[in-house]
Amino acid sequence: ASPIATFADRVRAFAANRPDAPALTFAGRTQSFADLDRISSMAANALTAAGIGRGDRVALLTRNRAEYFELITACSKIGAIVVGLNWRLSAREIAEIVADAQPSIILADETGLGLLGEGPAPCRVIAFGKDYDAFRDAADAADPGYSGPAGEVLLLLYTSGTTGLPKGVMLTNENMDYTHRLASEAWSMNGKSVNLVAMPMFHIGGCGYGSSTMLVGGHTVLMAEVNLPQMIQLIADYRVTNTFLVPAVIQALLNLPDIETSDVTSLELLMYGAAPIGDVLLRRAMAAFKCNFMHAYGMTEAAGTVVMLDPSEHDPDGPRRGLLKSCGKALPWVGLRVVKDGSDCAPGDIGEIWLKSAMIMKGYWNNPEATREAVVEDGWYRTGDAAYLDEEGHVFLVDRFKDMIISGGENIYPAEIENVLNAHPAIQEVGVIGVPHTKWGETPLAVVVPRPGQSVAEAEVIAFTRDRLAHYKCPTRVAIADTLPRNASGKLLKHEMRRIFGAPPVPVLSLA
Ligand code: ATP
Ligand code: MG
Repeated sequence: ASPIATFADRVRAFAANRPDAPALTFAGRTQSFADLDRISSMAANALTAAGIGRGDRVALLTRNRAEYFELITACSKIGAIVVGLNWRLSAREIAEIVADAQPSIILADETGLGLLGEGPAPCRVIAFGKDYDAFRDAADAADPGYSGPAGEVLLLLYTSGTTGLPKGVMLTNENMDYTHRLASEAWSMNGKSVNLVAMPMFHIGGCGYGSSTMLVGGHTVLMAEVNLPQMIQLIADYRVTNTFLVPAVIQALLNLPDIETSDVTSLELLMYGAAPIGDVLLRRAMAAFKCNFMHAYGMTEAAGTVVMLDPSEHDPDGPRRGLLKSCGKALPWVGLRVVKDGSDCAPGDIGEIWLKSAMIMKGYWNNPEATREAVVEDGWYRTGDAAYLDEEGHVFLVDRFKDMIISGGENIYPAEIENVLNAHPAIQEVGVIGVPHTKWGETPLAVVVPRPGQSVAEAEVIAFTRDRLAHYKCPTRVAIADTLPRNASGKLLKHEMRRIFGAPPVPVLSLA
């Protein structure tokens, strides 16, 4: 294997070569690379003194905060594993994940402490703030001097739990080294880049992408969580050049009253992904931000982005505007196949995306069976995502196979229906699921949230799709809702929707 630099190695190198360069800003305070190097050594020594060593888990149950980077660097300096816990989960879900990850220590903010509850703690718990500061500041600042091998696990991140229970994904030093390659080779980041990180650090969208700029010596501006007015302010104040946003956040930003007059001129590259974006939204966003746009497709299991649509291919008015429906091409170091029944699909035919790359996880934590199912002996990781390729190798995502509806023997992908309905002027958001149907097995149900102050009739929703889609794909049922269940990455929770809206219809009783 090629020699790799660990997370800590890179921080050490920047601390040596350009010690005063800003590494991280959080809540108005900026740390240089020298600061980060020193403070992470203290944290590493404190963890060591607490009995934590190679392979032990250090769990973080907190909103984004500066200590996230301090502790990733610290764990990299002693071979421990950072576990990112989703503070938006329920206490019960957290307890399940903690039982799975078996951390030696949990570092938590106030919300996190609340989630851990009153009962006996599963392990040592330290509160961020004065307790953690005292814990860290009691240790000395000498670098432990350790640099782990390529295959050593650095991060244990749980998947979003969109299709079921979150699975712990083991990401190695080598996997994370590709974040550095992504930053420099795919995203043209460098020591002058300023990256606004608003996505949660417990998720690969925050943690992976959020680390990219630091790994090339640039400046990371971290937000505790998504806060739209503050985001616009930070972009202007720090002359932010790069950011990654999920479509739901882009949509919300565009709805801010003062978005037209905000100063976003420093932005060079806005990446979007993690969930489908409609072309209407993308056009609006491109008009508002006037910077380069890049679509990214990836997942926790692949340590982040594996496919991207280059800015040069974002031309909504050009002859190749159809490409905007694609998430782009596989990165040079990623093998990608679209497979059906074991063989590669012809262009245009829908199959499952398989990936092979040094970016692919070591496996699922504590779950060799799930690992074997996902990464079969041949080394190809089965994503569960349905897609087709064009002649040039652009990937067009269709949907997740788990969400596919089979109606009268025909495959229907809910995302296709959602894209159509998202263009309806009175519809704010929409999610489509399959519900039982006596004749066809399943039928699409569209759950529609009307725009504020507007209403939509069921018949009109159905008619709108019938003008634009093959009739067998059109929803036959419509439900109106106030909101749709989404997870922290803004993804529709289809299993939750099926639970709420998917019960078989109550038979209509005739009183005659
Ligand atoms: P779980 O695996 O627990 O069900 P999840 O798959 O949502 O949750 P993540 O690893 O956070 O967990 O997300 C990866 C998935 O997100 C991909 O497999 C794909 O289905 C979806 N996705 C990623 N990027 C895009 C994109 N650009 N457009 C549409 N969907 C995307
Ligand atoms: Mg997944």
